[in-house]
Amino acid sequence: MLSWDEEVTPVKAPAATAAPAPGAIAPALAPAIAPAIGQATFANVALDPALMASAPVAPPAAPAEPQRRVNAADKRIINGQTDVNQLVPFKYKWAWDKYLAGCANHWMPQEINMQRDIELWKNPNGLTDDERRLVTRNLGFFVTADSLAANNIVLGTYRHITAPECRQYLLRQAFEEAIHTHAYQYIVESLGLDEGEIFNAYHEVKSIRDKDEFLIPFIDTLTDPQFSTGTLETDQTLLKSLIVFACLMEGLFFYVGFTQILALGRQNKMMGAAEQYQYILRDESMHCNFGIDLINTIKLENPHLWTPAFRDEIKALFLQAVELEYRYAEDTMPRGVLGLNAPMFKGYLRFIANRRAQQIGLDVLYAQEENPFPWMSEMIDLKKERNFFETRVIEYQTGGALNWE
Ligand code: FE
Repeated sequence: MLSWDEEVTPVKAPAATAAPAPGAIAPALAPAIAPAIGQATFANVALDPALMASAPVAPPAAPAEPQRRVNAADKRIINGQTDVNQLVPFKYKWAWDKYLAGCANHWMPQEINMQRDIELWKNPNGLTDDERRLVTRNLGFFVTADSLAANNIVLGTYRHITAPECRQYLLRQAFEEAIHTHAYQYIVESLGLDEGEIFNAYHEVKSIRDKDEFLIPFIDTLTDPQFSTGTLETDQTLLKSLIVFACLMEGLFFYVGFTQILALGRQNKMMGAAEQYQYILRDESMHCNFGIDLINTIKLENPHLWTPAFRDEIKALFLQAVELEYRYAEDTMPRGVLGLNAPMFKGYLRFIANRRAQQIGLDVLYAQEENPFPWMSEMIDLKKERNFFETRVIEYQTGGALNWE
């Protein structure tokens, strides 16, 4: 094991063999990289994928114009022409600050002890049938939801965003989505649930499938290799997808599920799962806030995109998403459970949808003013150190997987 006091002998670097010039792309990598980095990567360097694919070992052609240093004022969130490899000079400091905050909130699922959850789950009298249905339906949505979110970022959103500060946050966000998928898998495995049933719920359970089918066209648009921004229509398409993901996926579709599991935790049930959901909720509220800042900055830089017709389209999507999430609430809670019932969620969803609408500059959509679950705000604000549920273990730091049997 390496101690910080030990002297480290540097490993000798292999002899340089035709090292490419700084900024040059190895020809073998070029076909894979070029479509993803898009038009703005090397502001003045032509990156024709067909040309790169057939190029001999020589470095890419010399720039048509001398390289200019990045001026922060020239940066743009979309359709920017500055070099996306240069993080600084900063323009979008809010994105960098969120990247730092995301790193400061780092956690891993194995930190949380699941022993009490396992005992409760295995005890025939530990939970009611309705509580068990709530847990399995809940995981049925979440086990694939964060994979959808990760794929949307990595294969879609990332390549269309030309501000390196925002790309830096998206990289952190993508890893957090992986941690969330890991957390749900860890809960499924700990409780010994039927993996086939849980991981296929998004195909087999209508209320979950309907939510995902609402989202998938917006993912498909951004991940289509032929899609690129630069026209009114395509810029609006990108903006619409960003709104759907930040405001309706991460900002609305997650909230019935988060409230349910955190309500269990508040009754001293499934405390390990609840603690993990608490950390996920905190991460997701930052994803949502980052997305809203991104959307509002794109609007500021491109006010022509925010047409009355576009706003009407967005409002219709909000109304549809609230309806889908309400049907999911009814399906997961056919009767009252844990002091919760589906009609309470109708109010909550309307409250959240109003807030998301206002956050991106739309009028409120519903007459709902009250938040029926004010304790949820406290959950989001909780600092990791305060560790409300206090079930964490530290053994994971030795690197071994914990065995709860
Ligand atoms: Fe997220």
